Parts: sequence; structure tokens; C-alpha cells
Amino acid sequence: MLSGHGLFGEEHDAFRRTVRAVVQKELRPFAREWEERQEFPRALFTRFGELGFLGLKYPEEYGGSNAGELYEAVLLEELARCGSGGVSAGLGAQFTIATAPLHRYGTDAQKRRWLVPAIRGERIGALGVTEPDAGSDVAGLRTTARRDGDHYVVNGSKLYITNGVRADFVVLAVKSDPGAGHSGLSMLVVERGTPGFGVSRRLEKLGWRASDTAELHLEDCRVPVANLLGREGEGFAQIMGNFQWERLSLALGALGAADELLETSLQYVKDRHAFGKPLAAFQVLRHRLAEMATDLECARQLTYHALRLHVGGEYAIAQTSMAKKVATEMCCRMADQALQLHGGAGYMMELDIQRHWRDARLGPIGGGTSEIMNEIIAKQLGI
Ligand SMILES: Cc1cc2nc3c(=O)[nH]c(=O)nc-3n(C[C@H](O)[C@H](O)[C@H](O)COP(=O)(O)OP(=O)(O)OC[C@H]3O[C@@H](n4cnc5c(N)ncnc54)[C@H](O)[C@@H]3O)c2cc1C
Repeated sequence: MLSGHGLFGEEHDAFRRTVRAVVQKELRPFAREWEERQEFPRALFTRFGELGFLGLKYPEEYGGSNAGELYEAVLLEELARCGSGGVSAGLGAQFTIATAPLHRYGTDAQKRRWLVPAIRGERIGALGVTEPDAGSDVAGLRTTARRDGDHYVVNGSKLYITNGVRADFVVLAVKSDPGAGHSGLSMLVVERGTPGFGVSRRLEKLGWRASDTAELHLEDCRVPVANLLGREGEGFAQIMGNFQWERLSLALGALGAADELLETSLQYVKDRHAFGKPLAAFQVLRHRLAEMATDLECARQLTYHALRLHVGGEYAIAQTSMAKKVATEMCCRMADQALQLHGGAGYMMELDIQRHWRDARLGPIGGGTSEIMNEIIAKQLGI
């Protein structure tokens, strides 16, 4: 509804129109079917690769366009309007969390092996941090990687991994030195087909239905030392670094979804009549919409502020955590209010409101919960 507040230039606005057209023509008409099937076509990855959407922030020598993170921010907002949180989550995981560690910490050889085909959409990536017994407490993860000659022998499991079922490679957080706490973590790339690595199950979810979410197991899985990202023991810092863009991505997606919910609600109160008047004539509903718009605008300002700091090269950990918490919680409220405004229609599967309501609920959980965001913010306050 409102502009990019000076953050985005004309070139970003033009890109937004391009993405919106692709989303409306190539995703939206099929989204409900993919949600019901709980899967979207693998060909969407290659299509996004052809369009250059998977390499917006990566260098040209690896097949990216080096356009920058602001373009990816536009893509994330627009993708949230595709009619399926699962589609935006699956495609988004490829360019936000799965490939970013390869770009930031990988060698040239590693980038050519995994980043280049991922930017083309020919290979699907996933990020595997969370485990059955360790989610918020990243340093407490239990998957071990014991060095044995030119290999690591990996044992453990990963839970709730987006794209995990059909991933060709997983960027895996492991404990390479179980006695060393935070400095005992490392990141390893494990390829599909490596003996001892497999999918235990595909998980059923409340929302994000079209994305695949997996539990993975690793049993005496031998991973070449050449698949280590950066140096042994750098994993915790790498994971925390990766979280910044993941959290901004979730905030941006929440803005896109909330924007659509607000637009839909504004239209509905004009079209729907009760007691002989359009709903928009009732002050209580007009004021509710005014509050929804204000809620969205607060979250947008904070998110764009964090984004501006991030693209300016700052490690804006407090502002990013605030934006992630505020924007994702705002989107839950927005979906709930929109559902209420639509009455019985909001509860029906024909409308997208119920799907938004289910999808939005992941926002305050994934990529670090709201409670963990508060913990980070409190630490930044020195308490
Ligand atoms: C659909 C989906 C997709 C996901 N995709 C991925 C993925 O691709 N890769 C990946 O690695 N992970 C993924 N996750 C995992 C997600 O990041 C974790 O679920 C999240 O970080 C929370 O971890 P947890 O589920 O183990 O909850 P827990 O850490 O067990 O937390 C449970 C509750 O306790 C609270 N809590 C925990 N510690 C504290 C504390 N110190 N102070 C206050 N409260 C606390 C939490 O806020 C939460 O409310 C995904 C999850 C979902 C649901």
C-alpha cells in the first residue's frame, strides 16, 4: 500500500513489477493445487534459476547477477503474495539460507560444485541446523563429526529441515569437537546419495504445506574433509551470521503477506453488505482496519530500518531481531483480524485468508523464536 520509504529506487520498483507479474501468472493460479498436494514442482527451481531470482546477491562468476540484497528483499516480499507460504518457503530457503553459507564461507571449488548449480536451480539445497533435542539452543546440537583421515564420520539427526526431502545437498551444522561448546561447531556439506545419509520422514504441518519439511538421519556417514565450510570450529559464528539474513527474510515475507491481507480486507469491507450498508460504514470495522494498517506500517518501518543497516554493512543484530519479532507477530495478528473481518468466508478453504492464518504462525517460531529474539535484544541492552 505504501512506498519503499526511500530505501528502494526506480530499478527496484521495476523489478517488483516483474516479480509480481511472474508470481501472478506462474505461481498464483496453481498455488492451491500445490498446497493440497503438499508439494510444488521441482521445475520451479530451474524456472527461478532462468529468471535469475536464485542468484541476485551472488557474483557473476558463479552465475549470479550481483544485483544485491535489496533486490532479494523485493523478491521475498512479492513471493509472499504467491498464494502458498510453502512455495515461498521452499524457493526462499534455496536463495536465503541454503546457498548463503556456500557463498560466504566456501572455497572457489566448493562454490563451483554446489553454489553454481543451485543458482541455476538445477540442484536443491537445504540448511540443517535444528535437531530433535536442539533448536533454540544451537550450541547444544548433538550431531557429531569425528575426523578419520580425509573424512568426517557423521552421526546424528536433523529435524524440520525445509527442502530436506528432495535436497541434493544439505549444509549441515555438526559438532566436530563435542567438548568445546560453541567453538566445537562446524559446517559440512552432505550430498544426497552419500551412504549413511537419508530422509527418515516427511513431516505433516499446520501451514507451509507445499514445502517439504524433513527429518534427516546420519549414521556413520563419511563426508570428505573437502566439504568443510571455512575452518573447523567456525560453525557457530557462521550459523549466527547466516541467521541475520534469514531473520530479515522472514520479516520481509511477513510484510508481503500482511500487505496482501490488508488489501483483501479493505476490498471486502467495501463489497460486503450487512444491515443494508457496506461493512466499511461501521466505525468499529473502519477503526480496526486503521489499526491493522498502522500495525503493518510500524513493522515495515522497523524492518526497512534493519534492512538499510544490513545492506550498509552493519551487523545490526538488535534491529534485525526486533524486526523479525515485530513483523512476524504483526502478520499473525493481521491474518487473525482479516479472518474475523471476513466472517464465515474467512474460515473457508476457497479464500486464502485461512491459509495465511496457518502460514503466518510459523513466523514467530522459525529462524529463532520470538523468545530468543527477546533474549538477543536483552543481551544487546547489556542485561
Ligand atoms: C516449518 C518449519 C521449517 C523449518 N525449517 C528449518 C530449516 O530449514 N533448517 C533448520 O535448521 N531448522 C528449521 N526449522 C526449525 C526452527 O528454526 C526451530 O523450530 C526453531 O528455531 C525453534 O526450535 P525448537 O523447535 O527446537 O524449539 P525449542 O528450542 O525447543 O523451544 C520451545 C519453546 O521454548 C522457548 N525457549 C527455548 N529456549 C528459551 C530461552 N532460553 N528463553 C525463553 N524461551 C525459550 C522457545 O521460544 C519455544 O517457545 C523449521 C521449523 C519449522 C516449524
